Amino acid sequence: MSVESGHTTALAWQDLAKALRGSLLQRGDAGYESRRRVWNGAIDRCPLAIAHCEDADDVIAAVKFAAAAHLPMTVRGGGHNVAGLAVRNDALMLDLGAMNHVEVNAQARTARVGGGALWRDVDAATSPHGLATTGGFVSTTGVGGYTLGGGVGWLMRRCGLAVDNLVEADVVLADGRSVVASEREHADLFWGLRGGAGGLGVVTRYTYRLHQVGDVGAGVVFYPVDAAPALLRAFRAYTPTAPDAFTAMLVFTTAPPLPFLPAEAHGKRVVALAYCWSGDPAEGVRIAAPISGRAEPLGRHEGIVPYAAWQQSFDAAAPSGDHYYWTTSQFDAFDDALIDALVPLAAAPADPASEVHVHHLGGEVARIANDATAFTHRDSPFFINVIGRAGASERFAAVRDWTRGLRTALAPHARGGMQPNFAGETADLGARAHDSGARERLAALRAHYDPEGLLAPLRGT
Ligand SMILES: Cc1cc2nc3c(=O)[nH]c(=O)nc-3n(C[C@H](O)[C@H](O)[C@H](O)COP(=O)(O)OP(=O)(O)OC[C@H]3O[C@@H](n4cnc5c(N)ncnc54)[C@H](O)[C@@H]3O)c2cc1C
Repeated sequence: MSVESGHTTALAWQDLAKALRGSLLQRGDAGYESRRRVWNGAIDRCPLAIAHCEDADDVIAAVKFAAAAHLPMTVRGGGHNVAGLAVRNDALMLDLGAMNHVEVNAQARTARVGGGALWRDVDAATSPHGLATTGGFVSTTGVGGYTLGGGVGWLMRRCGLAVDNLVEADVVLADGRSVVASEREHADLFWGLRGGAGGLGVVTRYTYRLHQVGDVGAGVVFYPVDAAPALLRAFRAYTPTAPDAFTAMLVFTTAPPLPFLPAEAHGKRVVALAYCWSGDPAEGVRIAAPISGRAEPLGRHEGIVPYAAWQQSFDAAAPSGDHYYWTTSQFDAFDDALIDALVPLAAAPADPASEVHVHHLGGEVARIANDATAFTHRDSPFFINVIGRAGASERFAAVRDWTRGLRTALAPHARGGMQPNFAGETADLGARAHDSGARERLAALRAHYDPEGLLAPLRGT
């Protein structure tokens, strides 16, 4: 292969194209434009080329090519990262979208999942067996980046984070070598993959532990935004002692034209309680009552549904291509001063499509020590995600200012640090996504496994 040090020749690209089972796309090729684009339409970066990897051998070929050319690489899993970590100017993008095969061993209760699968691929394979593992709050997120960042979701308080269910990972290192990382092999790498937010290798396959999860009691209940303080006080009182199988969130949103909401509420700012109970489904409505009963609802939609169907319920509320800017903050307590700081701003966004999500952790997540994996935020009982969303680019600056304004208003009440999966700026990943101990450990791992930093996540904005 004629890859010259520090750059690539046209001939070398041809060699890579021949070595791949999948295709190689360069600027101007059909398909290049759509695959360089990620979920967040505000991200506009142009890789040198996109290698569609169909299997681990393709990944090895692409990584060896990039290593020989000293070329930075990015990995595209589901493309959901809001900071756009899957794409970088003038780098080689490894697109794992075709590596979405899921193989379930129902007896062993494990699933082997291709590194480019989405959570809906996993659910489709596991649900016929009445099994599931913790995936995202929507089904269109990629397992790849989600797991590397910890992975919170509807089942986490009962089943743990995604990283707590990761049994092993097949990894192609930055020099093209393949290794298996688990508690027994390359345990240091396995620690870093579980919450380190990537940059340690390309995971071609994740093996997850599965749990018995069939139907769930779940629903969404809408309230006028004036009810927010009462609902937040009920949320803070109930969630620390709620059963593990219960996960809920309070969402500041704009009422969609849903048939179970009165017409006069459509388009108004509201608060919604969304919850999932994976215990005895028949108890779902009763389990949520300590929060849902605290105010007069505008409308409710609750029932017993297959878990996989519930995980898809909010997919349409997170369309790809809009311009997004997110931030996230964590809290040790949810006192009245925090409620006073949050409500007025969350009730009046710069764009009505923007939302604020109030979450809790606890349960199985908090029973594991903070330093057991690279996800170092387990002991934080509450976190708030600000989902700035502008349909059109001209409103983006105002939405970003609103999001940043909320972050500033919440900061005096926050404990510092942020979950990597919800960081809206690449700069936050280096500075705030891990505590100082984990940061040092991750830096040492990166120096060992990728000394040239070819897979290092982009750190600027
Ligand atoms: C609508 C929406 C809902 C979300 N819901 C949740 C949620 O409920 N819980 C939660 O924890 N997070 C959630 N997230 C955040 C999400 O988990 C992160 O943005 C995550 O990075 C997305 O992973 P991805 O594979 O889709 O992203 P990508 O943008 O493809 O990748 C993100 C990062 O992971 C790396 N990566 C991806 N796959 C691999 C792989 N196989 N091997 C090595 N590196 C890889 C990429 O290089 C990149 O650095 C949500 C995001 C969106 C947009």
